[in-house]
Amino acid sequence: MNVVSIMAHQDDEMRCLGTMLKCRMRGDHLYFVTLTDGAKGMVQMPEMSAADAGAIRHAEMSALADAAGGDYINLREHDEFLFDTADVRMKLIEAIRATKADLIFTHSPHDYNLDHVTVNQLVRHCAMQSCLPVLPTSSMVLAQHPAVFECEPFGAFEFHPTHYVDITAYFDEKVRLLKHHRSQEVAMQQATGSGIEVICVRLDAYRGDLVGCRLAEAFAPMPGRGTIKPYPVLP
Ligand SMILES: [Zn+2]
Repeated sequence: MNVVSIMAHQDDEMRCLGTMLKCRMRGDHLYFVTLTDGAKGMVQMPEMSAADAGAIRHAEMSALADAAGGDYINLREHDEFLFDTADVRMKLIEAIRATKADLIFTHSPHDYNLDHVTVNQLVRHCAMQSCLPVLPTSSMVLAQHPAVFECEPFGAFEFHPTHYVDITAYFDEKVRLLKHHRSQEVAMQQATGSGIEVICVRLDAYRGDLVGCRLAEAFAPMPGRGTIKPYPVLP
């Protein structure tokens, strides 16, 4: 299977990366798609130009994807100003087709950041449209709708997961990979007092505790056309 995270920003994949690594173990190929350039993420250096900040975020995410044996597609929309436009929809449809997505992880519809919410809506629409030949792009139209799972939101928002994946054996690699986001490790420390590892271990341990393992990631199937499958897709 082709497993694709479609997120607003470089580092949002922290909610599904352990599961993606578990997918890789069963022979799946991994893709990472970001809608924005991440250029507003350098909160510790607000004087940095958008071009320089975007280049750093791109390099960090590319390094993570390489180390995970996957591929990275950056749609480079404006960070913190992502809007649902015809152009963005066509870019995302093309990205979904280019990855030949079978399984997509994306944001929850309820989240503190409107880029995240917009990505959720775009994925619901574009995953369906990736099967429509009336919307041609440079890649082949998908024959089948990809399965889509929504990830844990960032912040105190309603989320009712129905699917849990034991990622205990993959947690160390997940954190090691996420630390390619060096700029964000600094930004998170500054904003929350916690780095990537602490942020991940708290949530994954809580989710694991609920289902009787040490560390887990939690998901809810996206309600959409063809996005819920009548067979298991998660590892
Ligand atoms: Zn984000």
